[in-house]
Amino acid sequence: MAYGMGIARGLMVTFKHIFHPPVTVNYPEEQRQVPVRARTNLLWFEERCTGCSTCAQACPDGCILVQTTPRADGTLNIDRYEIDFRICMYCGLCTEACPYQAIQAGGRYDDAVYVFENMYRNKQTLTSEAHSYLERTSGRYPNGQLQEIIPLRTQMPTARSRVQVAGEEGPIGPQHLPSRANRD
Ligand code: SF4
Ligand code: SF4
Repeated sequence: MAYGMGIARGLMVTFKHIFHPPVTVNYPEEQRQVPVRARTNLLWFEERCTGCSTCAQACPDGCILVQTTPRADGTLNIDRYEIDFRICMYCGLCTEACPYQAIQAGGRYDDAVYVFENMYRNKQTLTSEAHSYLERTSGRYPNGQLQEIIPLRTQMPTARSRVQVAGEEGPIGPQHLPSRANRD
C-alpha cells in the first residue's frame, strides 16, 4: 500500500461527515424518540396480575417479591409486589414467565437515581410508573393490547378462582395439617 493511503482514507471519512448533520443529540436537553415497544425497563400492571409469583420464581437474581393473602373466592389479594432494580439485570425472564403478561418490558429509560436505594421500587411506585405509562400511550400496554379490551382484573374469575375453595371437606391439603397450637 502506498505510503499515506491510510491517512487519506481517514481524512475522506472525516470530510464526508463534516457536511452531514450530527448524529448525536445534546442529552438531556434533547431526547431521542424511543419506539413505544422498546424493552427499556420493566412495567408491572396490577390489574393483570393474579399474584401467582411465577415471575418471582423465574427471576435468577431473586429481585421480585410477591406477598399475597387468599380471598374467600380463591383469588389472591396482592399485599406487596416489589422489584429490586439494584440487582435486576433486565434479562426479561420474568416477563416471559408471567402467564398474564402482567409484567412487561417497556417504559422510560431515564431512571438514573442519585440515591442507590431509590432503585428499590414497591407496589405504589410500580403502579404509578405503570399509570403514567398508560396515560402516555392512551391505555395501550407495551405488548400492544389495549387496557379496555383486556380488563384482566384480579377480582374477575381466573383459572384459580373457578376452582372451588377446598375448605375442611375438600381433599387433603395444608388446611388439614394440625395447627402449631394443636400439635402434641
Ligand atoms: S429482568 Fe431478569 S433480573 Fe430483572 S426482575 Fe426480571 S427476571 Fe429478575
Ligand atoms: S406479574 Fe405475572 S407472574 Fe408475577 S405474580 Fe403477577 S401474574 Fe404472576
